Amino acid sequence: MSFNHYNTPNIKQETPYTLLPLKSWFPHQTPLLIAGPCSAENPDQLFNSVKDLKLSGAHIIRAGAWKPRTRPGAFEGKGNVALSWIKEVSTAVGLPAITEVANPQHVEEALKAGIDFFWIGARTTVNPFLVQEIANSLNGVDIPVFVKNPVNPDVDLWLGAIERINKAGINRVAAIHRGFSSYEKHLYRNKPFWEIAIELRRKVPALPLICDPSHICGNTQLINYVSQVALDLQYDGLMIEVHNNPSQALSDAQQQLTPTEFKELVQKLVVRSASVDDVFELSKLEDLRDQIDEIDAEIIEKLAHRMNVARTIGKYKKKNNVAILQPERWEEILRTRTQSGIEKQLTREFLLNLLNSIHLESIYQQTMQMNIDSEKKLEQ
Ligand code: PEP
Ligand code: MN
Repeated sequence: MSFNHYNTPNIKQETPYTLLPLKSWFPHQTPLLIAGPCSAENPDQLFNSVKDLKLSGAHIIRAGAWKPRTRPGAFEGKGNVALSWIKEVSTAVGLPAITEVANPQHVEEALKAGIDFFWIGARTTVNPFLVQEIANSLNGVDIPVFVKNPVNPDVDLWLGAIERINKAGINRVAAIHRGFSSYEKHLYRNKPFWEIAIELRRKVPALPLICDPSHICGNTQLINYVSQVALDLQYDGLMIEVHNNPSQALSDAQQQLTPTEFKELVQKLVVRSASVDDVFELSKLEDLRDQIDEIDAEIIEKLAHRMNVARTIGKYKKKNNVAILQPERWEEILRTRTQSGIEKQLTREFLLNLLNSIHLESIYQQTMQMNIDSEKKLEQ
């Protein structure tokens, strides 16, 4: 007897999605630029943050009315009243507005306030019950919905949320890639894992894909770079946090650009064209480069830690009158470290060079420490 259903031929999966291409909802806006503050804090802050954005090239204004904060007690948004400010500035500036909805009540209030588009946040996308409730509350409503990736790197959970919204009859759905949470935060607040977003695109090519460099980076230094990578990977747009006075922002103060910085960023962006295969290859290269950047940051971190310990040893040696240079100890370090490095495919020459420079820096740091102590004594 044979069970040939184990050998099912590779049938192309029928796509469950009915999506309208971004071009049909935004014919001329490529890449689509969404900009504005993390939160609508008060009418002045909101207006001053967004008043010049249209001139700078933005197509949609963003602002949060309800903020999902990690710890209670932080600024959780102004709620309903913020919706009316958002609507007012959007009319004044002449751009549509988008805000975050995290439950059916938010949907109801934001629809009542006349907000043009909704986004679903990363902490909501992880919860299929909640996404389904939001989807149900959207049944029969024709409004574009942008779905952020879940905080954990799970492409199917992201797709599941998109599918739930789409099944509610929303055919203007886009994905927002805002990076993925990880315990170690060296370079990025949320690691990009570009391949996950590109995988989403491969699975559902009709789905518009927007990058949110602000929440990926968590700081302003890398935003230009991440934005350009997204465009190089053929993303359809960017969502960037802009605040008139970032250091005073009530949420995400470290990552918001000033309106001027946003304008400069838009001027620098280069829009390229590439084939889909190129894009996938490029995303792999970007992920590898990200890994190298993270590892380098870890190496520096570890070296700084090592030198910190060396300085403590310097103090100890001083106190106990022990010589800084201990040849036998150093011989032992060289022998054991080169042996384990060679086992891990590193060359002897590289290891000796590296260990020697670490040793020299260590001696320098210890000597400095002793001198500081002596100088302090002299001052007393
Ligand atoms: C935001 O866009 O301000 C936000 C809270 O986003 P995320 O869900 O990506 O954390
Ligand atoms: Mn934010």
